[in-house]
Amino acid sequence: STREPEIIATLKTIVSEMSGIRPSDIDVDATFIEMGAESLLMLQASQAISEKLNVKVPFRALMEEYPTLRSLATYIDKKLPAFDPVPVVQPAPAPEPPPVLQPVEPVKQIAMPPVVQQPIASNGSLEQIMAQQLQIMAQQLEVMRARQGRVTTAPVATQPAAPPTNGKLPQPETKPETKTEEQPFVPFRPINKSITTGLTEQQQHHLDALIERVNKRTQKSKQLTQEYRPYFADSREVAGFRSLWKELLYLIIVEQAIGSKIWDVDGNEYLDITMGFGSLLFGHSPDFIMDGLQEQVAHGMQLGPQSHLAGKVAKLLCELTGVERATFCNSGTEAVMTALRLARTVTGRTKIAMFTGSFHGTFDGVLVRGERGADGKLRTVPLAPGVPPSIIQDVMILDYGAPESLEIVRQHAHELAGVLVEPLQSRRPDNRPSEFLSELRRITEESGAAFIFDEVVSGFRLHPGGAQALFNIRADIVTYGKAAGAGMPIGIIAGKRAYIDAIDGGMWQYGDTSYPRADTTFFVGTFFKHPLVMAAAWAALNHIKNSGPQLQERLNEKASYLARTLNEYFQQEEVSLRVVNCGSLFRFHNPQDQKYMDLFFYHLLEKGIYVWEGRNCFISTAHTDEDIEFLISKVKEAVVDMRAGGFLGEAKGHKSTAPAIEVKQVPLTEGQRQLWSVAQLGDQASRAYNESL
Ligand code: PMP
Repeated sequence: STREPEIIATLKTIVSEMSGIRPSDIDVDATFIEMGAESLLMLQASQAISEKLNVKVPFRALMEEYPTLRSLATYIDKKLPAFDPVPVVQPAPAPEPPPVLQPVEPVKQIAMPPVVQQPIASNGSLEQIMAQQLQIMAQQLEVMRARQGRVTTAPVATQPAAPPTNGKLPQPETKPETKTEEQPFVPFRPINKSITTGLTEQQQHHLDALIERVNKRTQKSKQLTQEYRPYFADSREVAGFRSLWKELLYLIIVEQAIGSKIWDVDGNEYLDITMGFGSLLFGHSPDFIMDGLQEQVAHGMQLGPQSHLAGKVAKLLCELTGVERATFCNSGTEAVMTALRLARTVTGRTKIAMFTGSFHGTFDGVLVRGERGADGKLRTVPLAPGVPPSIIQDVMILDYGAPESLEIVRQHAHELAGVLVEPLQSRRPDNRPSEFLSELRRITEESGAAFIFDEVVSGFRLHPGGAQALFNIRADIVTYGKAAGAGMPIGIIAGKRAYIDAIDGGMWQYGDTSYPRADTTFFVGTFFKHPLVMAAAWAALNHIKNSGPQLQERLNEKASYLARTLNEYFQQEEVSLRVVNCGSLFRFHNPQDQKYMDLFFYHLLEKGIYVWEGRNCFISTAHTDEDIEFLISKVKEAVVDMRAGGFLGEAKGHKSTAPAIEVKQVPLTEGQRQLWSVAQLGDQASRAYNESL
């Protein structure tokens, strides 16, 4: 058809905008998979085609029936009404050069495995459909492997953490070299529907027995989950879905929680190291929080007029953290959303820089991930289906801690409304790029962009002054949540007057001619300053104030003991597991074998330790020394059990088939030795910070 070349041109534009490949470099006979497209990108392509060409091409059809631009164009041509001109899609005006993250190596053509198209009969039996799925996934896996190989060798990915410079960060319990292997954390992944097992007979047998035992122990949780699934949609129920252990995929349903313990509907007791995703800094139901809540309940739920505690909580927060003003909402997500709105209002700019490996909640405007295109450049793409590219067009994602990212921020500094960081990334607690953060502070200070610290996890947990105190950096806007509400849903936007004044116009008095002068933006919410939330925050912040930095120091010490003891055990037993931590936030990390890590947590569950699916672990002030010893012993038992089942390599004394992980013994300097003790947290930098308040 004469329309086909036009259709192909339009399709090339669509693919180019999504992949970063120049239209002239797109091979119309290459399959999407050969071009390196992942399923999410293809889903977006299918949406874009339907929007721009008015022809619906289901995602599956892109994978299976029209896998090349030429075959797709022929299909679209047939679908378009006979004499319709092709809707013309102009290539977008030359975009600003996407951030170049590294001296880009010449794009290596990824050697693709030959794609053997198995003829698939059209009667669509289950077996055939599955075979087809596996074939597609095998191809995708090859692409991903090829990509991962490339990404890992890129200089940015191997950037070692800047050593702590100001003499106060607790030292990582693992050496930085374990970091180089890692891909940055990405909060959303499509459900893995693969049915391949890849287990040996011994492993399968072990898994079957584990499933049986855990199912028996937690049968009521499982039964209730199934009973309510038709009515109750919960993404957490399918996080980390694997057909292999789908019988274990349900949350334990809990009836009671006190201190460091929880009890499920089957009557099992667990030591909780999830601690409300970090919000239960003082454990479950501490007396001083419960008293505050009960007192408030006794006075009724005064939603509407001003809260009698909000002003006091804001003042106390300013005192503890050094921020100038603060305001309240109900979640970390809202706090981050508002922080960006304030940054944009005050600077009059729109662009935001943020970083790989961070998590900032679920506001659409931060739901991005970095995708390295075939040209080697990191592009910012929507994190998940349903996030339109238009909503994140002013967001750029850069590699966290990489010098190249600083260069890009410098280049764009004049147009940035804000630079958003999770200074201590909850998924990488061992990574503390203090020099990087200081440099970002310098650049944003000079350019007038807001430096935004997302302290939803780190706030109050590591130090009363949070990550600002740890890194000795004053941010412009700081978001808090979690620990500040001690289990109640809270979000706090705090920071310098220049920014927070955009909430209410800033300071003014009665009886004179003053008025709220600052330009304001929109910020309201039915449940903001909820009486129960304010009561909990008031009790929590007072407890933090009255306890002094010793509260965090003791907690950090306990966590360091846990990490050190377990890491010594792992090393001694030649297990590739590690505990990585920053203070009381820690993760179990297996640099060699992520694939079966979920089984490790099911072993812990069976032994009475509860860890949620996101696997960030926390200890609270309610965790006793006995709790820590219990945890250590159960982790050791889990390792022994797993090894008996053929996981985690062979036990010491046996010849291991897995390559040994290199753990260099780097001698510590005297200064570092002193720093090793987290009790030193409140030293030099902390004093400097406190003096600056
Ligand atoms: N920022 C960070 C750093 C977080 O870890 C989270 C959630 N864990 C959020 C923001 C969002 O907080 P919330 O879940 O309260 O919306």
